[in-house]
Amino acid sequence: MARYTGPVCRICRRAGEKLMLKGERCVGPKCAIDRRNQPPGQRSPRRRKISDYGDRLKEKQKVRKSYGVLERQFQRMFAEANRRPGATGENLLQMLELRLDNVVYRLGIAESRAQARQLVNHGHIALNERKASVPSIETRIGDKIGWTERGRKSKFYEMARTWQGSREVPGWLRIDPIQLEGELTAVPAREDIDMRVDENAIVEYYSR
Ligand code: SF4
Repeated sequence: MARYTGPVCRICRRAGEKLMLKGERCVGPKCAIDRRNQPPGQRSPRRRKISDYGDRLKEKQKVRKSYGVLERQFQRMFAEANRRPGATGENLLQMLELRLDNVVYRLGIAESRAQARQLVNHGHIALNERKASVPSIETRIGDKIGWTERGRKSKFYEMARTWQGSREVPGWLRIDPIQLEGELTAVPAREDIDMRVDENAIVEYYSR
């Protein structure tokens, strides 16, 4: 599937905040936001005021790029979030959190969402003891996330052991730190999702 392959730190500089897209680098001295927190591209001497539309677009892009979802898929997710009962913005964030690649990342067995996606794509991750190679699968309560035979033999398994525990695992997930396997114990509520975003701005963006 197509994916963004350009410079990743540029996305954070455009958003104006750390989106933690590169794992360990994001907490080190090389983080581009810590070194040079300016939007990418040539700077105009005039400071332009951002319109309401621009603000909404920025919020939408921030979320979409944080989770590594392409525009068309994001639109489909928004339409589904809108169909479901409850607040559309919250539904959307919940659906993004429940994606298999995000769950792997949240369990702390991948350094970043991009790496979690790679683990899934390469057949290293098992969902309920069966190989799952689609990162966008929506996980459910009771789902067990583990490793395939191939995954356990890969370098990522040993690497996961070194960084597992360096990030806090959210309360809606349970991790076995010995086996590096996890379980989804609840659906995340809005307050469980640690993303600083105005989800209503995304709803307004697509409702224009
Ligand atoms: Fe963003 Fe991480 Fe790059 Fe910093 S190092 S700008 S947080 S992707």
